[in-house]
Order: sequence, then C-alpha cells, then structure tokens
Amino acid sequence: MRITVIAGGIGGARFLQGVRAYARAVDASVTAIVNVGDDVTLHGLRICPDLDSVMYTLGGGNDVERGWGRAKETWTVKEELAAYGVGPEWFGLGDRDIATHLTRTVMLNAGYPLSQVTQALCQRWQPGVTMIPATDDAVETHVIISAADAADQGLVTSASATAALEGGDYALHFQEWWVRFRAGIPAKRFVFVGADASKPAPGVEDALLGADVVLVAPSNPVVSVAPVLAVPGIRSALLTSRAPVIGVSPVIGGAPVRGMADKCLAAIGVECSAAGVGGAYGARSAGGLLDAWLVDTTDAGIVVPGVTVRSAPLWMTDEDATVAMVRAALTAGGVV
Ligand code: GDP
Ligand code: CA
Repeated sequence: MRITVIAGGIGGARFLQGVRAYARAVDASVTAIVNVGDDVTLHGLRICPDLDSVMYTLGGGNDVERGWGRAKETWTVKEELAAYGVGPEWFGLGDRDIATHLTRTVMLNAGYPLSQVTQALCQRWQPGVTMIPATDDAVETHVIISAADAADQGLVTSASATAALEGGDYALHFQEWWVRFRAGIPAKRFVFVGADASKPAPGVEDALLGADVVLVAPSNPVVSVAPVLAVPGIRSALLTSRAPVIGVSPVIGGAPVRGMADKCLAAIGVECSAAGVGGAYGARSAGGLLDAWLVDTTDAGIVVPGVTVRSAPLWMTDEDATVAMVRAALTAGGVV
C-alpha cells in the first residue's frame, strides 16, 4: 500500500509518527508532502520550519518539551547576535538548528532545488518516510492586516511598499505575525505569495496520483494545509486522483487542541469546529478536498455535506494512540 500524507509542522510530524508505525506493520510506503508557506530567510539563511519539524521529529532529533527545534540545543549564536543588537530577537535560532539552515542554504545557493536539499538532509535523519516539499518554488504565507494596526505596532510609519501592493493594507510574513505577535493582530486574510505560478515539486504529483490513499494530517488548515493546496498542480492532482482523500480533524470539541489555529480560522470566517473545518475543506465530489473526514468522538454526529464522517479518539498522546487514529482514518475512507 502507498500512503501519501499532506502535512504541516508539529501536528503533521506527530501524525506522521503514527502513519510510519502503521506502515511498518503492514509493509506500506509513506510519502509526506510538506508545507513550505512558513519558510523564511533570516540572517541570509533559508529556514523551513515545517520541513524541519517533520525531519527532526521523525529522525528522533526534536526537542519534545519545547515542541519545536533540536533536542540538546544551545543558543550561543543567538546570544552573540543579541550582543551586536542584531535581530530579529523574536525568532529562536539554536546553534544545532543553524547547522541545518547553513547546509540547506549552501546547497540552495549552489543551485539545488529544495526537494533535493531536503533529500540530502534526510540522509542524516533517516525519517523513514519520503519527505517532499510541496513545491521547489518560493511560496510564502503572508498575513494581511490593516494599515492602522500596522502603524499601532510600529511596523510602518508611513505608506510602505507592501501597503501599496495590498491596496492600503499591510502584509507581513506569517512567521512574524505568528511568532512575534502571537497571532494577536487581527488578520484580514492570508496570501500565499508565489503560489499561483508554482509547480508541485518532483514526485509530488506521482505521490498523489499513484497513492492508494491520501491522508490530510490534523495540521493547521489555514496556514499548513491551504498553502499546499494553493499549488495549482497539487489541487488538480487531488481532484483527479483515484485514491480516496481522508482528512483528520485538527479541532476537537471546538478547540484547536494545541496552538492558535482558532485565530487563523477566525480570520477566514470559518468556525473553529470539526464541522467548520470539514465544511471549509469541502467534498471532493463538489470540487473540494475530502471523501471522508475523521473527527473526535466528542464531535461524533456532525455532518459535512457530501463527505463520509466517522469518529474516533483524536488525541495524539502517544504513538499507539496515533496509530489507532490512522487505522480509523483508513477505515473511514474504506481503505481497510
Ligand atoms: P505547525 O505547522 O507546527 O503549526 O503544525 P501543524 O500545522 O502541522 O499542526 C498544528 C495543528 O495540529 C494545531 O493547530 C492543532 O489543531 C493540531 N493538533 C495538535 N495536536 C493535536 C492532537 O493531539 N490531535 C489533533 N486532532 N490535532 C492536534
Ligand atoms: Ca507550520
């Protein structure tokens, strides 16, 4: 069996641990198509937070307590930068992590596409699944806020170039909105800059068209899954693939379990509920994403028009619990 998973960072990584364990037991192969919308360049280094979360977690090198970055991390470079007064101080770059970004940036500057760079980094981490970035092209998630809010936060003192581009509103990189402002500035909308012209990375279309099943991880629907779907070739491959597409809800009983996905959903006018997110993904038969939608037992009974809805416990407390989720998802889609 060939399982393809659409994933963001931490939620995607935890889910993939369960998919990998399930796949090992039944001798299936797993391909993860990972969001690149969070990627950002800082200090000249290309940083890919979601790819790194998946790679470190599946490779056993993640910090379990903190939830992101490397285990046994040290922060000397960050301290030295601060001593020079060089920011941004809101983005934590650990010393071990920096080695990943240096290696990646050197390879990118030499002309290798991100998909090949990812493969090279995975030589070390051996994640046990094939990891492919959604696209090799630059696609960045930007958050549109009002010019007044931007001025309040000291982001602009007068008309800026991004304000001109966004019709008087202000655009900031998703990482700045999320990490620096803790999603605290009202978002008007999200823009996946570069997505329209982007192409799926090599292997992505094949992984979608040749899969026996496509799973949508319980990742942030607005800023992890949507930027993957914003790559036109991925959207069309999903619509034409013969594999059932099964989503797993990242929202349980009206709350996003961990993190701040509720703030992203509010910005696009989607209710923070399993029904809201399932409805926003929509039925594949109506041009949407899903054939089946797995929700937590708390949310059993919800309805998403045109989509088979099933329930199971969706707390990824440990690997066994996550494997059970994966099995329930495959059952919901009629795969097993
Ligand atoms: P990020 O890119 O690092 O923000 O991670 P993802 O987008 O892949 O996943 C974040 C989402 O995972 C959060 O918005 C939560 O809704 C969801 N999530 C986290 N833990 C759990 C869990 O145990 N169960 C479920 N169902 N969802 C979870
Ligand atoms: Ca992310």
